[in-house]
Amino acid sequence: MTTLLQEILAYNRTFLEKNAFPKEISKYPGKKFALLTCMDTRLTELINKALGIHRGDAKIIQNAGTSLIEDMGETVKSLLLTIYIFDIKEILIVGHYDCGVAQTSSAAILQKMHNRGIADQQIALIEDDFKAWLDTYTDPAQNVLAVVKKLRANPFIPGDISIHGLIIDPHSGKLDLLADGYKDTKG
Ligand SMILES: [Zn+2]
Repeated sequence: MTTLLQEILAYNRTFLEKNAFPKEISKYPGKKFALLTCMDTRLTELINKALGIHRGDAKIIQNAGTSLIEDMGETVKSLLLTIYIFDIKEILIVGHYDCGVAQTSSAAILQKMHNRGIADQQIALIEDDFKAWLDTYTDPAQNVLAVVKKLRANPFIPGDISIHGLIIDPHSGKLDLLADGYKDTKG
C-alpha cells in the first residue's frame, strides 16, 4: 500500500522533471496585497482563479473560518509582516458561503477530544477559547465584516492600508463585495 507521504514524494520527483515554474520569483507580492481566507478544501485553486491571483501576486493567509480572534494573534502578526516587511497596500478578507466553522460548535469538538482520550482537565483549559471562537461564529458574512472592523481598529495597521471584505461561493467562485475598503481608508 502506498502511503500519502510516498505518493507525494513520488509525485514531487516527476513534478521536478517537468517543472515549468520560473526558478526565480520575488517574495515581494507584485500586486501588493494580502489575502486572508479560509482553509476550506474547495477554495484550493478556485480562489486563485476566481480572483485572478497568480504566483508572486499576493501573500495568502489561510485558517479555519477566515478567523481573527486575538487582536495580536498569529493572523494579525502575519498581516503586520506583509505590511511592514513585504510592502502590501491592501488587505482582502475573503470568507465563503457554507463555511464548516459556522456549522461547528465548541461542545462538538470538545466532546470529540474527550472521546479520543484527551484529559478533561486539559479540555477545560481551552473551553473558553473555543467557545469565544466557534459559538459566536454563525454567519460567514458577518464574520468577514467583524474581521474587517477589528483590523480597521488595530492601532498597528496604518490608516492608508485599504481593508476590503468579500465573500465567495465555494462552488462557482462568485464573489460578493461586503465592505469596500477604499471608502474607509483612514489616510
Ligand atoms: Zn470555511
